[in-house]
Amino acid sequence: MSNQGKFFESVQRNFERAAAHTDIHPGLLHQIKVCNAVYQVNFPVRIGDSYQVIEAYRVQHSHHRLPTKGGIRFSEMVDQEEVMALAALMTYKCAIVDVPFGGAKGGVKINPRSFSTEELERITRRYTVELIRKNFIGPSLDVPAPDYGTGEREMAWILDTYQTFKGGEIDAAGCVTGKPVRQNGISGRREATGRGVYYAIREVFNDESQLKKIGATKGVAGKTMVIQGMGNVGSNTGLVAQQEGDVKIIGLSEFEGTVYSENGIDMQAALDYRAANGTILGLPGTVTLNDRGDWVAIECDILVPAALESVITIDNAHRVRAKVVAEAANGPISAEGAEIITKNGSIIIPDMYCNAGGVTVSYFEWLKNLSHIRFGRMDKRFNQNTYENLVSTFENMTGKSITDRERQIITKGADEIDLVRSGLEETMISSYHQIMDTYHSYPKVDNLRDAAFICALNKVASDYMTLGVFP
Ligand code: NAD
Repeated sequence: MSNQGKFFESVQRNFERAAAHTDIHPGLLHQIKVCNAVYQVNFPVRIGDSYQVIEAYRVQHSHHRLPTKGGIRFSEMVDQEEVMALAALMTYKCAIVDVPFGGAKGGVKINPRSFSTEELERITRRYTVELIRKNFIGPSLDVPAPDYGTGEREMAWILDTYQTFKGGEIDAAGCVTGKPVRQNGISGRREATGRGVYYAIREVFNDESQLKKIGATKGVAGKTMVIQGMGNVGSNTGLVAQQEGDVKIIGLSEFEGTVYSENGIDMQAALDYRAANGTILGLPGTVTLNDRGDWVAIECDILVPAALESVITIDNAHRVRAKVVAEAANGPISAEGAEIITKNGSIIIPDMYCNAGGVTVSYFEWLKNLSHIRFGRMDKRFNQNTYENLVSTFENMTGKSITDRERQIITKGADEIDLVRSGLEETMISSYHQIMDTYHSYPKVDNLRDAAFICALNKVASDYMTLGVFP
């Protein structure tokens, strides 16, 4: 079976295991489990002097809330089962972080590295047209975002194509998220998934009930981390964890291999080195491990698979020596792999919660697009003036004055980036506690994935019941 097939099977298996703990009606469980709409399309694109037929998908897993939401992936590995599995995960992810969307996912079966920028633009625009033709995109229908192999550039092409066809739609900018900030995007979207991964890890290391299980001390400062994948998610997880949490990164793995340093690796320096040299190998102060796959076995506090699905399976899960594995990628650990890791006493922070920061900030971006105003524009100055008055009153009353630095901190009105980060942090913390409430109230549940899944299933089921579809 292909990795993608195994991934789909893993998601289904995780669903079944969690569903068995609930008292949701079997008919409703079946409705929640299946994909509501699957669109496969093959279209021709001119490449050089010839034409290439491109295979692509958009899957809407659940229409219990609209619009549906989920990234678009450009990868040679894309197939229907992979996109279905990813779309299903999006439904559960949105439910966990209280983002009011159904789950969806898109995939284009190409290796983006094999095409020029112009060719990629042609492919992206043609794919968007196919989605428009079938009503598989729109601010109230289905809202894509970046995923593996795509980023802000592709999202800008998608918006431009959509606007070309739907010029009069007042909310057209909300047809896609993850756009460049200057093209109707939002500050903080690029870093959002990685930042959210960091907040999730931080919550686990602040939770005495989990720390007892793994025999770890409180707090993330000084904890060691190994990251697989230095793309959007992996790089931002590393940067935020290092800069804000004082986490020590000791291993990095990419296509070309794995580097290690017990003294710690500066994440920004590693990213700069790879950008300049096209490889992470040879990064000063590090050694290269013999086998690229050895990243899994490095002894550390936190292991962060942030590349692709099914990288930790029944074949290598026994090699994991991390106390906590944070699923920054979607589906990096197979169901069997997860059982082995859990049995060996480590904690897995499940993908559907761990990497939900991206869709959370995408939701903020969509709200911004629908309201046609930047967050903070109405109240920043007002708050600043109020805080200034408070500080002045305090100084007059006490006869004491505060330093310029203190005044700057106390009187600062919130910019868009401050509000986005604050909303993201609040979401990741409150969702963690919802998952833990479920964990503690289901005595037979012994891992966070089942708890997160149960939490999501209960919320989706409750939506269906509110709709009156099921009694
Ligand atoms: P990306 O394309 O920006 O980065 C992926 C990185 O992984 C690349 O640098 C690639 O070279 C590397 N990689 C691929 N195969 C590898 C291997 N075998 N060993 C080591 N490195 C390898 O993609 P991304 O957006 O960072 O997404 C990564 C994962 O996170 C995917 O599973 C995606 O679905 C998930 N995710 C992404 C977002 C988002 O906002 N981008 C949100 C939620 C989940």
